[in-house]
Amino acid sequence: MSALDDVRRAFTAAHGHEPDGIFSAPGRVNLIGEHTDHNEGHVLPFAIDRRTWVAVARRTDGTVTVCSSDPGTQPVSTTVGALDEATGWAAYPLGTVWALGEAGVAPSGWDLVVHGEVPLGAGLSSSAALESAVALAVAECSGADLDRFALAAAGRRAENDVVGAPVGIMDQAASLLCREGSALLLDCRSMATEDVALGLEDADLGILVIDSRVRHDLADGGYADRRAACVAAAAALGVPALRDADLAAVEGLGDDVLRRRARHVVTEQARVHEVVGLLRAGRPAEVGPVLSASQASLRDDFAVSVPEVDALVTAAEDAGALGARIVGGGFGGSVLALVRRASLDDVAVACRAVPGDPGPTVREVAPAPGARRDL
Ligand code: ADP
Ligand code: MG
Repeated sequence: MSALDDVRRAFTAAHGHEPDGIFSAPGRVNLIGEHTDHNEGHVLPFAIDRRTWVAVARRTDGTVTVCSSDPGTQPVSTTVGALDEATGWAAYPLGTVWALGEAGVAPSGWDLVVHGEVPLGAGLSSSAALESAVALAVAECSGADLDRFALAAAGRRAENDVVGAPVGIMDQAASLLCREGSALLLDCRSMATEDVALGLEDADLGILVIDSRVRHDLADGGYADRRAACVAAAAALGVPALRDADLAAVEGLGDDVLRRRARHVVTEQARVHEVVGLLRAGRPAEVGPVLSASQASLRDDFAVSVPEVDALVTAAEDAGALGARIVGGGFGGSVLALVRRASLDDVAVACRAVPGDPGPTVREVAPAPGARRDL
């Protein structure tokens, strides 16, 4: 049974008729560009081969219902006027419908049935996959004239204003705009995007995402602290954002902590462009050492890695990975490793053997198409 069949059958079982359409959107992983987004720099995510499906039908009575196959969820029914009061898991889909209304999509009732195959909370952005699938479904089925960037903005707004998570737009942009086989170079200042072909398959390369399943208590506070340090460093340097700083000026900063935080951002920004250059030159294997340089910078200058994650990076590299780094906000979370296909099993086994409670989870991910209509 395909996921498409599953969600279609779940919809007809719940509502007694066929959906108007079925839409899906992928999770993502960010190849390079960590903590560059909140400094108005560049990121380079790609959509992965794990998707979230949404079957949808329009209602005319102002009621919005949503249910999910995820066992941790309960169905929710509300009205178009109360969408922004949604809580728990339903805040993601209902918040997205609310944000689309704020963006001018005519208010209407909806039945939404969700089936997700993006693992939750594993660094692959199941939240953006859900928001992006809902955004595309509701926009298309209401005939709204919104481009994909506007849909991404609605997903982000749902997460910022209804869920209450201070995320940027990278995840939703990747989910809605990525093309199969390519990463998305996103300028977080101008919001300009460019496709960058990855060429992993031709080069016999694979990507593993290793979830440490560790999240330190200081994750939220630590993230806010790093953002504040970046703002302070930019002010000390007299630039609008660290994206505009140059390394020589950063090295002249008197405050040791600010200097190191800023140095990470400035060198990471350069690494994004280095990776884009390597990919465009058809040399994807050489991206490996740049990932490892990113890890060193995130660990030593930005101080967002933790021993459990460092151990996974070391295990991956010792088992033959071409490079590996922590992904996401930091203080735990996941590691991305670039690996020759012949070494994928060795790296996976080595990472699974790194002790932990409950211990790491290893997944191979492949570049996949962005959000689309499936039915
Ligand atoms: P991630 O890194 O996976 O995006 P988040 O904490 O940002 O982690 O989002 C995960 C949350 O999104 C889940 O706890 C759940 O509330 C919601 N979610 C994501 N996918 C689904 C789904 N298929 N069904 C129900 N809720 C989902
Ligand atoms: Mg998320």
